[in-house]
Amino acid sequence: MNLEFKGIYKIKAELINITGLHIGGSKESFEIGGLDNPVIKTNFPIDLSYLEQGWKIEEDMPYIPGSSLKGKMRSLLEWIENRVAVNNGEPCGCGECVVCKIFGAHKNNKTSEPVKLRIADAYPSKETIEKWKNLGENIYTEIKTENVINRITSMATPRPVERVPAGSVFKVYINYEVFKDEDIDNLKKVFVAMKALQDNFLGGGGSRGNGRVVFENIEVCFKSKDAYINPNQNISSKEYPTVDEILQKFKEIKALAKGA
Ligand SMILES: [Zn+2]
Repeated sequence: MNLEFKGIYKIKAELINITGLHIGGSKESFEIGGLDNPVIKTNFPIDLSYLEQGWKIEEDMPYIPGSSLKGKMRSLLEWIENRVAVNNGEPCGCGECVVCKIFGAHKNNKTSEPVKLRIADAYPSKETIEKWKNLGENIYTEIKTENVINRITSMATPRPVERVPAGSVFKVYINYEVFKDEDIDNLKKVFVAMKALQDNFLGGGGSRGNGRVVFENIEVCFKSKDAYINPNQNISSKEYPTVDEILQKFKEIKALAKGA
């Protein structure tokens, strides 16, 4: 097989949850008498000031695991690419389709190509951390009570669910590796998956209104193999506000790699 590493598309975006977000965390990390349905949070402080000056994540702050984002984008793209019925609902493991080429073949050790897409854990922006801090001491979330109604007695059984407050901003960093020309074309499907996510939901309780998200302020740059030796070879796009604009201007994005 003819595989030659050509470079990496680096995608940076802001993910904003426009309704409360619930990505389940571990109950065990909660004290006795704590909440039944917590969201996932950091276990220790993380210093991200090498990415942005003064950006520090504290312990017990909600974040979005890269695996949650990647898994959801993959499943939506499998629906769009008609890979769900052929796999009886299991993630695709064929190793040949565009989904497998981008995300990796599920449970397939014979995978002929490397996984192209890597999504880092997405942490709250500095502004969002400030906003959360105004909610109260060490409280970065809201509790939403959902009721289960008994059909005969009409009695409501409340069920508390922890959510990240609407309007929080998370910084998303995606790397997409290019080996062949077809990888450059296939990058478009990553943005298609992001668009599909905006019309779906992230995390739990989507049918009850949780987890509506949008991507904004998307930036794309292409770092060619040579750029690792010569830093001037890093080609950047203009800043694109939305996924739709990215899709409209995909030719420009493609040209970044061609020009490298
Ligand atoms: Zn496949």
